[in-house]
Amino acid sequence: MSNPTLAIHGGAGALTGRDYSREVDHLRGLAEAGAARLRAGASALEVAVETVAELERSGLYVAGRGASPNTAGVYELDASVMDGRARRAGAVAALQGYASPVNAALAVMLKTPHVILAGEGAAAFAAREGLEAIADPETWFTRVGWGGRKSGALSTGTVGCVVRDASGGLAAATSTGGVFGKLHGRVGDSPIPGAGVWADGAAAVSCTGTGEMFLRAAVAAQVAHRVTYGGQSLAEAAAAALAEVGALGGDGGLIAVGAQGDPVAPFISQGMKRAAALTDGTIIAEVFR
Ligand code: ASP
Repeated sequence: MSNPTLAIHGGAGALTGRDYSREVDHLRGLAEAGAARLRAGASALEVAVETVAELERSGLYVAGRGASPNTAGVYELDASVMDGRARRAGAVAALQGYASPVNAALAVMLKTPHVILAGEGAAAFAAREGLEAIADPETWFTRVGWGGRKSGALSTGTVGCVVRDASGGLAAATSTGGVFGKLHGRVGDSPIPGAGVWADGAAAVSCTGTGEMFLRAAVAAQVAHRVTYGGQSLAEAAAAALAEVGALGGDGGLIAVGAQGDPVAPFISQGMKRAAALTDGTIIAEVFR
């Protein structure tokens, strides 16, 4: 048995010179709240989903309410959850019209025999589940990443959470509006177990960055498998997997938590909005190195 712990990210699209104090304060508050929930006995899955749902709701990140539209002007969102102990997973891809993609992903995991629902089928499922629908996308979305377009910079900002609970269970959740300038129908790594999300008995992982390279390197599963089959520490495994992303020409970062010890949060981008509640109760929230 090991102390509960968690890590949260608000995306690796952080650019040097910009002020992220609002996001850092928000992430710190979520890390504190998540740690309190874990001390009160909440499961890793509950805390991962609740935390990502709040990140979506905040409108501060390019996920959920803060997502940007694709090149066709349509908001298509991706999200996933994975529960390490039961090795269950659920995800939605290119979902339109629903406020909390991560809750739709959770419902896919809990209420269907499937892992991923995409597009119209995912939206029809969310409607059947009575999930909160977005009345008017034009007023609902905050377009927090829109400034990135004006400045010509690629704006991304996936959110994620990895948790180990008091009974040693691991879980991960990831949610995103995707990369800025994406084509209609494009699906990134975030809703794909093994790429942008993973949880088994060895590690829970949530990724952020250029999704195509995270898909091509199977980053999230690779981290866990390096620990299980390669005997690497979590930090070594995470750094090696990100090095593959870099070698493919991508960038980004990840958060991961293993069966023991504190989470790791490496990145090869300029920065990554992140926070953690460590096993000794310390709360960390930062963006750059
Ligand atoms: N990985 C996400 C995607 O490719 C984007 C991000 O993390 O910012 O959809």
